[in-house]
Amino acid sequence: MKGITTIWLRLLVFTVICCQASVINAQPPGKTGMQDGLVDLRNTDLSRQPVSLNGNWAFYWKRLIVPGDSLPSPTAFIPFPKLWRNTTVNGKKFPDIGYASYAVTVLLPPHTNQLALQVPDTYTSYRLFVNGKELAEAGNPDSIAKRAVPKWLNRTVELKGTTDTLRIVLHVANYWHSKGGPYKEMLVGDFDYLVQKRDIGFAFDLVLTGCLFMGGLFFFGLFLFGRHDKAMLYFALFAITYSYRIIGARLYVLHSIFPDIPWSVTVHLEYLSLFVSVTFFVLYTRMLYKEDSNKYILGALVWACLGLAALVIVSPPAVFTQLINPFLVVMFGVIAYAFVIYIKAMRNKRVGASYALLSSGVVFLVFVVINLQYFGFVQPQQGILFAGYISFFFLQSLIMSFRFAHALKQAKQQAEKALGAKNEFLSTMSHEIRTPLNSILGMTHIILRDNPRKEQKEQLEVLLFSANNLLAIVNDILDYNKIEAGKVNFEAIDMDLPAIVRNLFSGLRIAAEEKNIDLRLHIDPLLKQAVIGDPTRLSQVLTNLLGNAIKFTKQGYVLLDIQVKEQNDQAVTLKIKVTDTGIGIAPDKQQLIFEQFTQADTSTSRNFGGTGLGLAICKRLLELQGSQLQLQSTPGKGSVFYFTQTFPKVIKSNQSMAPASNELPPEESKPLSGKCILLVEDSEVNIIVARTFLERWGAEVDIALHGQEALDIVDPDKHAIVLMDMHMPVMDGYNATRMMRQKGLTLPIVALTASLPRDVEERIRETGMNDIVIKPFVPEDLYKTVLHYTGVFRTD
Ligand code: ADP
Repeated sequence: MKGITTIWLRLLVFTVICCQASVINAQPPGKTGMQDGLVDLRNTDLSRQPVSLNGNWAFYWKRLIVPGDSLPSPTAFIPFPKLWRNTTVNGKKFPDIGYASYAVTVLLPPHTNQLALQVPDTYTSYRLFVNGKELAEAGNPDSIAKRAVPKWLNRTVELKGTTDTLRIVLHVANYWHSKGGPYKEMLVGDFDYLVQKRDIGFAFDLVLTGCLFMGGLFFFGLFLFGRHDKAMLYFALFAITYSYRIIGARLYVLHSIFPDIPWSVTVHLEYLSLFVSVTFFVLYTRMLYKEDSNKYILGALVWACLGLAALVIVSPPAVFTQLINPFLVVMFGVIAYAFVIYIKAMRNKRVGASYALLSSGVVFLVFVVINLQYFGFVQPQQGILFAGYISFFFLQSLIMSFRFAHALKQAKQQAEKALGAKNEFLSTMSHEIRTPLNSILGMTHIILRDNPRKEQKEQLEVLLFSANNLLAIVNDILDYNKIEAGKVNFEAIDMDLPAIVRNLFSGLRIAAEEKNIDLRLHIDPLLKQAVIGDPTRLSQVLTNLLGNAIKFTKQGYVLLDIQVKEQNDQAVTLKIKVTDTGIGIAPDKQQLIFEQFTQADTSTSRNFGGTGLGLAICKRLLELQGSQLQLQSTPGKGSVFYFTQTFPKVIKSNQSMAPASNELPPEESKPLSGKCILLVEDSEVNIIVARTFLERWGAEVDIALHGQEALDIVDPDKHAIVLMDMHMPVMDGYNATRMMRQKGLTLPIVALTASLPRDVEERIRETGMNDIVIKPFVPEDLYKTVLHYTGVFRTD
């Protein structure tokens, strides 16, 4: 706040100094004496600064005199330039409507350079004669109103020849505007200098207009294609309407470029653009800081501006040009109130409020300077107004940019929050769905092992199939969610590719046999060494591709082909191909099926089931490992899904791929006889499922319903292993394990959890557990793990 005030004060001082400087610039240097009808510049140096021709000029009211050597005697000698309403002769003021001539003789110093006159616009038409010759005009100042034409034009007129005396006659007429007569000073000076000054002025105005206009369009675009932020819209409209004022007022650049535009059009536009742009500014301020502004005050200001704009539309220039004074009051109100709002906004730490305050400081200065200029107190240098305008719009644009960026940031945060909530929700749902699925799957397995009747066996298999399907869907959704959230980490461990593939095949064989499909495997004999990779993820991809191939093939075969493309001592590049002779995929669907939740045909899910997630997951998983899943397919003939992936080789001497040992002892041999297992589990159904299996395998089972009970009854001499659920009342599995380890117990503890392993693995391992079995568990997994940790059968 303090910083802003200091900057603002500095700006104020700087502006005042610059304006002061420009006032001095406008003074006629070295002018000697002031005589009626004469401006004596004989001792003035005209080679540098131009000099104003201010002085007492001969004034002829209601006469358009013919220039010549002998002029008639004037109505009076009056100061030039001065509006008629401010001109007093014999105590009488002149009306705004009428016509008059002005005459002056200018004595020039000896000069060699080309001189020129800079003739400003007057209210509201003029014609200039110098030494009897007509040199410039703006409109047609005529004594008959009907023939007269108004126009505002600044002209730089070259004075040809080297004459030392200028006899200037100026006709001025006004029938249209609320003010009449000349009001800007006429200058004489070096031709090149004046032309250059004019051109620089025009250039400044054109550049500024371009900036404002383009800036306005830019923000308009942001409004249209962005969040439809009304503040942005009003700022855009403000910048666009105000841009007209830069070329359509003051120096009247527009009028010089297009001299044929009728004056009545430009004067309407000039006033309209002023009133309308301020309306937009007020609306913009309101939208920017709604909480800090009073809607009634701003509403009153808007209606005041709109009222003035409406008057411009319905009344003639003679009427609406009188509105400028009431408008200045409104404008002052707008700036003052904007100040108040911005200060409040700053106190309330709103987005971009400090820039708003700074910019309103700047606009206030611009406003003061323009008004001082308007009332003839200063002639500010072009650069000052330019800098003022540019900084104002720059600061306002900064606010807009801040707002935009802030909105994006907020949207991002919200999205992240929503994503977090979604993940949380999915994780809970997963847990909740997987827990009952554990009982369904577990019980089905148990009954299947109890020699059911033939038709019961078929029904149980349908049940098992559907429950597994449901589990696969839950897992897919969770997995996809994790991949999208970028939360996948890939393992880099030794893996025996042929063993993995053979394992997969043993799982898929039943499905293929049921459909009478030949399931073929071909592994390049060149693949001799174990490789490093993520076996879980690779299995996931292959299971999906093979599963699809079987699913979408009615007859023929499904082939998994692993070819060595390249290899050296360090790495091997494999091309892994899944070929089927199935229904194939139409060319226009071949891209689409890789998107999430899309299937080649809407009837697919009815006929074959599935969620349309599998391929999306495979594609993302491979992409994350730098590989591309590709497809060649002919409808009716079959499909080939393939990818190429490079795996580092396991560098170990004599490393050969040991076949994974699958030869577990048969369940019937009750390999766990004599072992006691502590099962810590709160869910009754889960207890029944786990206990049934464990007892079937010969184990004795002790039950604890929560962590505390487990702590009380655990006995390392008795228990060979603890199977620990994680979510339990009283004390959860994490705490129970931690405390058992603190007590110095080293017996194996295996987590039984319905959460996804990758979500909880780290935490589970940190607590000191040896392994995880995921619920719903595949009986073989539990069997293998328990045998392994009880030392009955080592699987590694
Ligand atoms: P899902 O199989 O669960 O529907 P996927 O993402 O695995 O989801 O597959 C998307 C779609 O791609 C499938 O529904 C099917 O239309 C098509 N598709 C995938 N694999 C094959 C294939 N081997 N043969 C024919 N169509 C396939």
